[in-house]
Amino acid sequence: MISDAWRREDCYVDGAWIGADSGETMAVTNPVSGAVLGHVPRCGRAETARAIAAASRAFPAWRALLAKERADLLLALADALLQEKAALGELLTREQGKPRAEAEGEIAGGAAFFRWFAEEARRVYGDTIPSPWAGKRVLVTKEPVGVVGAITPWNFPHSMIARKLSAALAAGCTMVIKPASQTPFSALAIAALCDKVGFPAGVVNVLTGAAGPIADELCENPAVRKITFTGSTEVGKSLGARALAHMKRVSMELGGNAPFIVFDDADLDLAVQGAMISKFRNMGQTCVCANRILVQAGVYEAFAEKLAAAVRALKVGDGLEDGVQQGPLIDMAAVQKTEAHIADARAKGACVLAGGARHANGGTFFEPTVLAGATAQMLIAREETFGPVAPLFRFETEAEAVALANDTTFGLACYFYTRDLGRAWRMMEALEFGMVGVNEGLASTEVAPFGGVKDSGMGREGSKYGLEDYLNVKYALFGGLGL
Ligand code: NAP
Repeated sequence: MISDAWRREDCYVDGAWIGADSGETMAVTNPVSGAVLGHVPRCGRAETARAIAAASRAFPAWRALLAKERADLLLALADALLQEKAALGELLTREQGKPRAEAEGEIAGGAAFFRWFAEEARRVYGDTIPSPWAGKRVLVTKEPVGVVGAITPWNFPHSMIARKLSAALAAGCTMVIKPASQTPFSALAIAALCDKVGFPAGVVNVLTGAAGPIADELCENPAVRKITFTGSTEVGKSLGARALAHMKRVSMELGGNAPFIVFDDADLDLAVQGAMISKFRNMGQTCVCANRILVQAGVYEAFAEKLAAAVRALKVGDGLEDGVQQGPLIDMAAVQKTEAHIADARAKGACVLAGGARHANGGTFFEPTVLAGATAQMLIAREETFGPVAPLFRFETEAEAVALANDTTFGLACYFYTRDLGRAWRMMEALEFGMVGVNEGLASTEVAPFGGVKDSGMGREGSKYGLEDYLNVKYALFGGLGL
């Protein structure tokens, strides 16, 4: 098993590998079979406090490095990730379930973030502002925020860490990371590679364990100056409130309920291709997944038929097997939520065009599903399904599509397909979301700002904006210059 090269069963704190003080561990399982892949420490507050202390000690020397020196280490990490892509991808598939090709793509995407922010590290510019007073000078500089606490989800166990850590390190911050308990190996593998390429002790720390106590320490310890979180809106809101009570900076990448809109004038094949990637990547377990597919009446039947045919052709199985496009869902709770959304939709009049039930493979495998006749009254219209279900809603006019699309508390990603340039522009402006795919079903890239509005959170990751989230602005007025 090549993936075992980077599978660590201990936590990385202050440049050393440690267990929990209590000696307790947590099992990590393969969602394909439930087989135990290994164990990681169940750390708590005390270990977290020591990790924060290590990150605080490491901070002055790390921020004092030349930007180029930090950039060189980030580039070395990017290279190491790419070199180990196959092993890291396999490890990721085994703990998370997504097909190997997607897992390797995630590792490459993570490496791209480290490369991008290595480049951006050298472009942390300030300002000089024309002074309103004679003989004085006004200067603005940017400084790293300090020690950052990061909490990340299971659906992208590698890249959700990579896009936080890359920006934080580039800015000169140090970090304590708590990955999701279901997928800790990918996080510990990043730590192992940081160790290998020579990051100084304490700059990067990864702790597995009980979310509550670790988060309490991260929120309450005065040495932590920022909390960055990716995960559910519910946990994000409570974590954000706790962090703000201690006046820490906060970035929140939370849930979504993306509309995917197909107009009568769309290129239908392109729209089907976009819907497949947007809806079924990672078995529908992405925050930017199309959750509601809105189709204009004139092409509704044709689009439904093409999409159902593409969905029926998806190969479901163990993500390590060649050609598999859909792995298992992360756990039984995910299966139950998916089932509940389908049952509710059917009870309210939807009909199943493809799939609709647990997969014959058993366990947490689920049939990729298409539902026709979805309406705004169904659960699936309001909640993030986080499973492989594509519900089709019918609409007549552009105004109706905008109203339906914006009728959600979320505001992360949205997508629409049209060949009318004027409509494309109107839609782009009318949709209340942080990211818009125009004739595109997948928009994520390290060069563009990723993030949402409304209940989908605050802050941006990637791009030049992602770096700003880890920088404080300092204003200095120089007087007494004798000018
Ligand atoms: P989650 O339940 O909120 O868990 C995310 C992280 O928070 C995990 O590390 C979890 O630890 C931790 N956590 C759980 N309870 C906590 C608490 N009371 N205090 C502090 N931390 C706590 O979310 P998930 O189910 O893993 O992830 C799916 C969600 O993430 C979806 O809503 C999805 O849309 C969202 N997401 C958003 C983005 C984005 O960029 N906007 C990207 C990916 C995913 P344990 O694992 O130990 O419980």
